[in-house]
Amino acid sequence: MNDQAIRSIVIVGGGTAGWMAASTFARLLGPDYCEIHLVESDAIGTVGVGEATIPQMATFNRMLGIDENEFLRETKGTFKLGIEFVDWTRIGHRYFHPFGSYGVNMNGISFHAYWLRLHALGEVPAIEPWSLQAMASADAKFMRAIDAGNSPLSDIPYAFHFDAGLYARYLRRYAEARGVVRHEGKIERVELRPENGFIDAVVLDDDRRIEGDLFIDCSGFRGLLIDQTLGAGFVDWSHWLPCDRAVAVPCAGGERLDPFTRSTARAAGWQWRIPLQHRIGNGHVFSSAHMSDDEATAILLANLDGEPLADPRFVPFRTGHRDRVWIKNCVAIGLSSGFLEPLESTSIWLIQSGLSRLMAMFPDRRCDPAEVARYNRILATEYAEIRDFLILHYHATERDDSAFWNHCRTMDIPERLAEKMRVFQSRGRTFRENEELFNDTSWFAVMQGQGLRTNGHDPIADTLTLDETRERLRHIREAIAASAAYMPTHREFIRANCQAG
Ligand code: FAD
Repeated sequence: MNDQAIRSIVIVGGGTAGWMAASTFARLLGPDYCEIHLVESDAIGTVGVGEATIPQMATFNRMLGIDENEFLRETKGTFKLGIEFVDWTRIGHRYFHPFGSYGVNMNGISFHAYWLRLHALGEVPAIEPWSLQAMASADAKFMRAIDAGNSPLSDIPYAFHFDAGLYARYLRRYAEARGVVRHEGKIERVELRPENGFIDAVVLDDDRRIEGDLFIDCSGFRGLLIDQTLGAGFVDWSHWLPCDRAVAVPCAGGERLDPFTRSTARAAGWQWRIPLQHRIGNGHVFSSAHMSDDEATAILLANLDGEPLADPRFVPFRTGHRDRVWIKNCVAIGLSSGFLEPLESTSIWLIQSGLSRLMAMFPDRRCDPAEVARYNRILATEYAEIRDFLILHYHATERDDSAFWNHCRTMDIPERLAEKMRVFQSRGRTFRENEELFNDTSWFAVMQGQGLRTNGHDPIADTLTLDETRERLRHIREAIAASAAYMPTHREFIRANCQAG
C-alpha cells in the first residue's frame, strides 16, 4: 500500500450525513483499509427532518447491499412516485412532477413534443395521463416493476419517504457491525498541525482526543470543521430563494397512503406533506421577512390531515453552500456543506453525491490540491444546477396575492435558468445539461406545470401525421391507465412486503 495511504477517517456528526458517510466507507473500503471513527453528541442532537428522497436513493441502498424491504420496515418508510404541487401556479391549480418519463420518446425526440402539438390544438389539456407515476398516485396505487415486456409496468422508478431518526439508527447498526467506532461526546476543540494547517485531532469535552488523517465534517449547519475551524466562507443565495425557516410537526394519517410528497404553496412559502407508515410528516417552509413564526405555525396547524403528534419545531436555515467544501484534509458532507430548501428533496441526494464523488477522488494523506480543487468545482456546479431548478418553481408563477410571490415572480434570475426558459418558450424543448441531476422530463413537468407557455413544438414531431399522433397518444394513455388499474394500493403493497412491526 502507498505509504501515504489514509490510516484513519474521523467523521464528525451522527445525523443522516454522518451515518451515510460511515456506512459508505465501511462498505467500500472494507474492514482492513483504515480505521473509521464517528463522533456525535446526543446533547446536541440532529436536525431531525429530511424524510423525502429521489430515485437515486435506491442506488445508494444497493451499493450498501441493503435489503429494501428491511430498510422500509426499519424506517417505517413508504414509496414515492413524485411530487404534487398545489397552488404553485395559481391558487386552485395543481400539477404532478413524476419520476420516470412521460409516454414513449419517438423519432429521437421527447414524447412531450407530440403532446405539445395536440395540446396546442386543445385536444389534451393535461400531461398526467401519460405518466404512470401520476396516474398511480391519483389512486394511491403502488408496485415495483415486473417483467412485463414493453408494458409501462416494466419500468417504475420510485423513491422513498422515511423517518429520519430511524434511518440514522438503522445505518448506525449497519456501520457499527462493519467496524465503525462510535464516540459519544461533544467536541470542544479542534487541533491543527502547525506545519500545514491540516486538522490533527478533535478533542471532546472529557479530554478524549481523536486523531485522524481525513476528517469528514457532518456536523450540520454549524460546519464545526469546515467553517468554524477552517473558515470556508459561504455563497449566499437567499436573494433567489428567500425562504429561511421551517416549522415542522408530525400528525396522524388515515388508511389511504399516498405514494407521493405534496407541496402546497402558501402566502410566503410552502407546506410539505410526507406520508409515512405510522404518521404524516408536515412542515411549513417560509420567508421570515414576509411571515412571522406565529402565522406560519397557525397555517401549518390549520392544514393537517389529523391530530398533531408533537409540538411544532422551528428550523432556521440559510440557502447556499460553502465557498469550498473540501479544505486541506477536511471534506464537508451534508448540511455542513450547504443547504437548498427541501422543495425537490435534494439534500440527501447531495450527501450521496458528495460521498460518491469523494470515493471517486479518494485522497491519500497529502490531499492533492488539484483533486481538491476539482471536487470543489464539481460540487459547486451541482449546487448551482439544483438551485436553478428550485428557483423555477418560485419564479414561473402567476401568483400575485402576496409580497412574497410578487418578489419571486419579478426578481432577476440566473442567466442559465433564463436561457432554459427562453428555449422552452420557443418550442417546448428541455435539456439535461452535462451531469445535471434533473432530466428533461423534470424540467418539462415543472415548466409546463408552472404555466410557462410555448410558441410552438419541436418540428420533428410533425414527422407523424396528426392522426398518427392522436392514435399513438391514445394507445400509450390506455396502456398507462390499464397499468395503474392493475396496481395494488400503496397500503396493500406495504402490508404485503414491508410493513413495520
Ligand atoms: P444534522 O442532522 O444536524 O447532524 C449533525 C450531527 O453533528 C449531529 O449528530 C450532532 O450531534 C453532531 N455535532 C454537531 N456539533 C457537534 C459537536 N460539537 N460535537 C459532537 N457532535 C456534534 N433532505 C432531503 O433529502 N429530503 C427532505 O425532505 C428534506 N427536508 C428537509 C426539511 C428541512 C426543514 C431541513 C432543514 C432539511 C431538510 N432536508 C431534507 C435536509 C436533511 O435534513 C439533511 O440533509 C440531513 O438530515 C443531513 O443532516 P446532517 O447529518 O448534515 O446534519
